[in-house]
Amino acid sequence: MLVEGAVLDADGPRAAYVRLRGDRVVEVGAPGTASDRGRERRLRGIVVPAPINGHTHLGDAVSVREPPAGPVAQLVAPPDGYKFRLLATASDSAKLAAIRAALARMAREGVAGLLDFREEGLAGVELMRRALRGSPLRGFVFGRPVRRPLVASELAAVLRVADGIGLSSARDEDAGTRRAVARACRRAGKRFGLHASEATREPPESYLDPAPDLLVHLTKASRDDLEAVRAAGVAVAVCPRSNALFGRQADLRAMERLGLPVLLGTDNAMFHAPSIWSELQFAYTSSRLVGRPASAAFLARAALVEPWQWLGEPGSATIAPGSPARPLVLRLPPDDPAYQVVTRATEQVIVRPGPPRRRVAR
Ligand SMILES: [Zn+2]
Repeated sequence: MLVEGAVLDADGPRAAYVRLRGDRVVEVGAPGTASDRGRERRLRGIVVPAPINGHTHLGDAVSVREPPAGPVAQLVAPPDGYKFRLLATASDSAKLAAIRAALARMAREGVAGLLDFREEGLAGVELMRRALRGSPLRGFVFGRPVRRPLVASELAAVLRVADGIGLSSARDEDAGTRRAVARACRRAGKRFGLHASEATREPPESYLDPAPDLLVHLTKASRDDLEAVRAAGVAVAVCPRSNALFGRQADLRAMERLGLPVLLGTDNAMFHAPSIWSELQFAYTSSRLVGRPASAAFLARAALVEPWQWLGEPGSATIAPGSPARPLVLRLPPDDPAYQVVTRATEQVIVRPGPPRRRVAR
């Protein structure tokens, strides 16, 4: 397949042609200079690295009704919030089916992977692993030990099957727990993440000591707090749609200006579908609604580039011959790629670069 138009990747937007064989890039060059290969499929569009959803709780997909109104704590705080009661009463097979359906939808939307915070201890991580089996998505699973005070054997068991530990928040966990979790993650070569400054501002020393690998939300963080996060070199996952449900938004413009590594996530699957394209569009629009506009380029990076860098696989966010990237081809006007991708991309504009799929009998 030959795509004439533009590339939008870790190096930013540029006019280019891209030749793909299957889902791999074999040639990139200046527009209009591609050699003619006869019957090759040709189209105009934008080639991007496949996005990664930077923060999900896919287990919540088991929720099928509109969640009750109320403060976020009543809905999602452990151990008695609405979602935890729901998770406790749903069967494993119901949760598994809901997570698989969510993963299938993400795959159709071209998403390559997700960073999921899975509750429910060891069993929760194992359930997620089962759901991911057979999915084309790469799942980076943060588990969460449930017993307090921490029990070393439970923490070790969760870490054996998870890619890291994702805690509720610094407010919900004492310093001793956070330190023990961070230490165990380091020792195991795994990552440590937690939610921070979501409903109310928390002092950065609480969530930066010990420094995590990923902070989620920071909706109530001040400019000084964000500078402290930058100084600590910690990446931030933001979830504009989920935060908006509770009347909040992270200061995306300040994060952009500070040069923070920001990932875009869709958060709790009980609130809305885990659609990275909807999230991008909402982030762009809502940051204008609150008078703190973030650029399309910054938001596109948060979905297409930063997560790959966070995973330690920057090559997958680079469209170049021989790169490990399995890019998406989007049938969109290539003149202003970041703007087009952020405000117009949906599942419908994805052109599947692979060989024609076999028909599946229904
Ligand atoms: Zn979360």
